[in-house]
Amino acid sequence: MVSVHLQAGELRDIAAEWIQRYFDYLSRGTLAEGAKIVLTKIPAQMTCQTCRAGFNADIRADKIECPECGNDKAVLTGGDEFFIESIEVI
Ligand SMILES: [Zn+2]
Repeated sequence: MVSVHLQAGELRDIAAEWIQRYFDYLSRGTLAEGAKIVLTKIPAQMTCQTCRAGFNADIRADKIECPECGNDKAVLTGGDEFFIESIEVI
């Protein structure tokens, strides 16, 4: 049993089911055949331009405000990652 742990930022439009299907197709007949894909989503990270506070942003919200000072001028500092965290072989 092999499982592949992936981490993907919330801003990446990646569906776990889609990756699993694609992986199953590609791994057919290889050592990785039957491996399970485990996807962990990383929340979008913002940094306030006014007070420099870092916070997790709700990307589905209409308005993004700094939880520290209430300012709406924040820049995106994370959430578009996509990498393999680990590969587990049991
Ligand atoms: Zn702030």
